[in-house]
Amino acid sequence: MDLAATPPALLTRRHLYVAGDWADPTSGDTVPVENPATGSVVGEVPAGTPADVDRAVAAARAAFPGWAATAPEQRAAHLDRLHTALAARADEIARTVATELGTPLKLATRVQTGLPLTVLRSMVDLAARPATEHTVGNSLIVREPVGVVGAITPWNYPLHQVVAKVAPALAAGCTVVLKPSELTPLTAYLLFDAITDAGLPPGVVNLVPGTGPVVGEALAAHPDVDLVSFTGSTATGRRIAHLAAERIARVSLELGGKSANVVLADADLPTAVKVGVGNALLNSGQTCTAWTRMLVHRDRYAEALDLVAAAVAGYRLGDPFDPGTRLGPLASAAQAQRVRDHVDRALADGARLVAGGPDAPLPPRGHFVAPTVFADVHPDSALAQEEVFGPVLAVIPFADTDEAVAIANNSRYGLAGAVWSADSDAALAVARRMRTGQVDVNGGAFNPLAPFGGYKQSGLGRELGAYGVKEFTELKAIQR
Ligand code: NAD
Repeated sequence: MDLAATPPALLTRRHLYVAGDWADPTSGDTVPVENPATGSVVGEVPAGTPADVDRAVAAARAAFPGWAATAPEQRAAHLDRLHTALAARADEIARTVATELGTPLKLATRVQTGLPLTVLRSMVDLAARPATEHTVGNSLIVREPVGVVGAITPWNYPLHQVVAKVAPALAAGCTVVLKPSELTPLTAYLLFDAITDAGLPPGVVNLVPGTGPVVGEALAAHPDVDLVSFTGSTATGRRIAHLAAERIARVSLELGGKSANVVLADADLPTAVKVGVGNALLNSGQTCTAWTRMLVHRDRYAEALDLVAAAVAGYRLGDPFDPGTRLGPLASAAQAQRVRDHVDRALADGARLVAGGPDAPLPPRGHFVAPTVFADVHPDSALAQEEVFGPVLAVIPFADTDEAVAIANNSRYGLAGAVWSADSDAALAVARRMRTGQVDVNGGAFNPLAPFGGYKQSGLGRELGAYGVKEFTELKAIQR
């Protein structure tokens, strides 16, 4: 990969993707796409309408019986061709994510592009091996695709979040209408370029770009959508659940988080801090699983704060296309302002600033916020309770393991977390006590086949692996 690469050329798109072809939108209105590293508008996409959603849902409905009846190995072959077509666009995907989201190119290549390719690969294998039918007494238990899926995705991992829905839905035999985030629609278009190349049957996957209140609501409320699969904020998830409840449609929700990184007294502190800071700042902190609360045993607290400050000092802000940049901007001016408001509130609440803060130097333009660390954060304070979704870390001391677990679980969220200890059994015991969907012990690697999703207000249901495919199925019992 050439790290001096330039932004991609194609930044304006004029069509929807419906019934296997690029289609004219019903309205001439458009949504601008901005480069958050400069604040300049770099392109635009159609502002979809409820009428566009109707067309796309009708196409998905028409395609459903044929796709549901397609043999598993043929569905796998389609997904395999899609993987090949997407992989051929890896450089363009990374450059597009760097341009419309501001993720540094190296990370955009490794995570924003590499991860969805890995997930899509795993779905090729899972599509070929559907859940086996079995008998219970006189019943034959079968799994069937749920039907037409409305997929609504956020901007923070613009290809991964889409692939984590579209690929398992297709593997299960469902058809899909996608509404990507209006902040980062261009990356989703590259998936549809790949879908065109791969020759997926018409109507199996459809694209309607546009805003949440218009296209998102129309999709979530559509009477012919059987399951709404949503990733985004808890507030929007609640709204989508309400809309789906009106017609008792299924919903899968992947929402926010405020994950705890528990560093026990006997931990390898330099590693725990280095990995913990890296996790909290990943993608400028715009990561739902970010370990944004670092809980450190009192005996190691002062030492940990020195290590945190030193680690944060190594994160250079700047142009996402500059190979020396480790942190890009926030995704939008509104997101940057929200993060600054959280920082101001933490200062007002008496948290101790250890790094960054409102006066730290920033690049001259773009939506940048300095990586910021607060110590002595009260576990009940806004900073410890609210999802910031920016490069802001709260460090909290604890006296013993019970207190660490109590603080970790003192959250309305429960998406991810971590535990560090020289005693792996002790770490595992803490992991078991944490009310959260994923826990990494001593830096355990991300597993794309493991179930991903949240307890409490972090969501409903699971994505990825066989668990992710199951979300898109119904169970049927046939008595004989
Ligand atoms: P968001 O909720 O504002 O938007 C997400 C999507 O929903 C976008 O496509 C948006 O257009 C759409 N939308 C907005 N209002 C809508 C409405 N009324 N009806 C239907 N659709 C609507 O979230 P965001 O700001 O794009 O993403 C950030 C949030 O996503 C964070 O809270 C983050 O934690 C969460 N997130 C969660 C996960 C996870 O897997 N748990 C992953 C990534 C992001």
